[in-house]
This record gives sequence, structure tokens and C-alpha cells, in this order.
Amino acid sequence: MTKKILVTGGSGFIGSEAIRTLTSLGYNVFNIDKLTYASSNESLELVNKNNYTFYEGDIADEVTISNFIKEISPECILNFAAESHVDRSIEDADDFINTNILGTYNLLKYSSEILSNLISDNDFRFIHISTDEVYGSLGFDDEPFNEDSSFKPNSPYSASKASSDMLVRSWIKTYNFPAIITHSSNNYGPWQFPEKLIPRSVLCALNEEPIQIYGDGSNIRDWIFVEDNVRAIIELMKSGNIGETYNIGSENEVSNIGLVKEICNILDDIKPRSNGSYSDLIVFVEDRPGHDLRYAIDINKITSTTSWRPIKNVHEGLKISIQWMIDNRLWLLKKATDKRRLGLKKK
Ligand code: NAD
Repeated sequence: MTKKILVTGGSGFIGSEAIRTLTSLGYNVFNIDKLTYASSNESLELVNKNNYTFYEGDIADEVTISNFIKEISPECILNFAAESHVDRSIEDADDFINTNILGTYNLLKYSSEILSNLISDNDFRFIHISTDEVYGSLGFDDEPFNEDSSFKPNSPYSASKASSDMLVRSWIKTYNFPAIITHSSNNYGPWQFPEKLIPRSVLCALNEEPIQIYGDGSNIRDWIFVEDNVRAIIELMKSGNIGETYNIGSENEVSNIGLVKEICNILDDIKPRSNGSYSDLIVFVEDRPGHDLRYAIDINKITSTTSWRPIKNVHEGLKISIQWMIDNRLWLLKKATDKRRLGLKKK
């Protein structure tokens, strides 16, 4: 069993879910996080501190990463740290290039150095967390992306992730570096920063504010409950084949408008408005430039080589997530105080 795990970006949405799970399984976890606007260490308050240590630090800072990796000498690195919001990358891509590309390069470079001190490469794994967005966009009738699909990123965010994937691939091919790359579809669940579609829509609904949807809402995404993605990542850390790429999805394709209507239906059931349905709050706004039409993921490789399966369908996962958002509305409000983070342009 891998004992010492270095998690980067563990104070973010998916990384914190991974830390809650790994520490409950008895792993010794070290989290390095720059604590950007998207982070929240509140999500880690209940984690057992006997096997969890937090460091504030920037993966793009070479000296920090060099010292940190040498000091911890981890048996596994899970690289979640990233700038992750497409709209922000369109406004200004600097942080995306620094963190997603340069940060990954630093991690590869300095974990390669500690590899030479290990008795066998089997003692180390590098799991690079990436996204289905690197594959670009599908038409409505296209087959889902598989691991052989070519990279056609359409936003500065997805281009920076694709670049980092290429660096990891080159380390695998050139240096026999023991890495695995995961491409997951859109995650949702507790502790997601409210600039993302689901928590933003729930918060706007609860605030009786317009629920804004890009374009005509026909864009399709596959939505995976965050716990399902983290279980897949841990499964691959334990038994995935080194050097391989795995797509992680849940075969729950929904259009954005379908998703927001489902959110409204669930809210109508569990927290009815005094007047009408939450769906009356839906408004359509100017589309995002380069907005990918559809993402869909073929999960045949991971399901045929491991025992992992997605458990939650979108309806079940949304009910859990929305109840969490109602119970933790103050956290969402606090994270959303800067209106610029939530506001879209009116059509
Ligand atoms: P997030 O934005 O919620 O969290 C990212 C975390 O990384 C934050 O805690 C932030 O402070 C930290 N961070 C940013 N720059 C850093 C730096 N330079 N050094 C150290 N820490 C830094 O993101 P998330 O949604 O949890 O995504 C995690 C990973 O999963 C990302 O690599 C993302 O590309 C990938 N991913 C996310 C989704 C999704 O739907 N959220 C889907 C597929 C893949």
C-alpha cells in the first residue's frame, strides 16, 4: 500500500475530496496548495491531522518544489493543482500557463530526481489529473472520446492542460517515468467553487437571482459525481498500468439547459419557492467564445481493466450536492462575494 502521498492543489474542489478519502483510508497525506481564490481549507477541517500535513506553496516556484519533494520524498504524487476555470483563462491566461504547464514541469523534473534514490520504480507513481476538454468538441452524433482521440483544445485552459499532458507523456516515453494520466469529464459535488455551473445555478436560485445559461443551453457535458472520480483516481493509483492514459466519466450526458432544469426541479421539491418554480429564473446570455458543443467519454478502458464503476447518476448526485449547498449556503455566499466571479453578460 502506498503510504506517503503528496497531493498538489488539495485545498481545491476535487483535491480536497481526494484528501478526505485518502486520509480516511489511512494514507499519510501532504498537501501543497497556493491557496488561490478557488481553494478552501474549510473543506479539510475534519480531516485527521495525525496523517495530514498542509503546506502553502506554489508548484510553479522551482525552489519550493525542489525542496518540498526532497523533504517529503513521497511514494506517490497526485497532481490536482491547476487554474481550472475556462472563462478566467479567456480573460487572462498567465496563471494558467504558469501553474498548469510550468508547475507540472517542476513536479516532473524534481520527482525524477528522487526516483534515482529509490530501490525500484515500482515504489513511485505520478498521477496527473487532466480533463476531457483537451480532446476539443464533439458533434451531437459523434462517438464519445476515447484514449486515442486526438487533442484539439479550444480554450487557453484546455490548451494549458493539453500541454501539461504532453509533458507528462514525454517523461513517460523518454525517461520511463512511472506516470498515469487521467481525463475526467465535468465533476460536481460538495465544496465546488460557485463560479462553476451547478453551484452557481443553485446559489442564484436560492438568492432569487437570474440563473444565467450561455447561448441556447444546448451544449452537452458528461457529469461525474466527485466521489466517483476520486474513487477512480485512487483505483488507478493502486492498480493502473504505468504509462497509460485513462478516461473517467459516468455516461451521464446532459445539456446545460437540461441540467439547470433538473436543478430547478430538485429545488422545487426540497425547498419550494413561495411563488412559482425556480425555472422561472432561467435567462439565456451571450455565448462563451469558442464554447465546446459536446463532451462525452468512452469509459471502456477503465471499466474493463479495473473494478471501478461510476455509482451515482446525475439525479442522485445532484440531490446530494444541492442539499449540501442548501446546508452550506453561507460558505457559497462567502466564496461568491466578488460578483464578477458569478456575473455573465446579459444577452
Ligand atoms: P479547483 O480550481 O477547485 O482547485 C485547484 C486548486 O489548485 C486550488 O486549491 C488552488 O489553490 C490550487 N492551485 C492553483 N494554482 C496552484 C499553484 N500554482 N500551486 C499550488 N496550488 C495551486 O480545481 P478542481 O476542480 O478541484 O480541479 C482539480 C484538477 O482536476 C485540475 O487539474 C483540473 O484541471 C482537473 N479537472 C477538473 C474538472 C472539474 O470539473 N472540476 C474536470 C476534469 C478535470
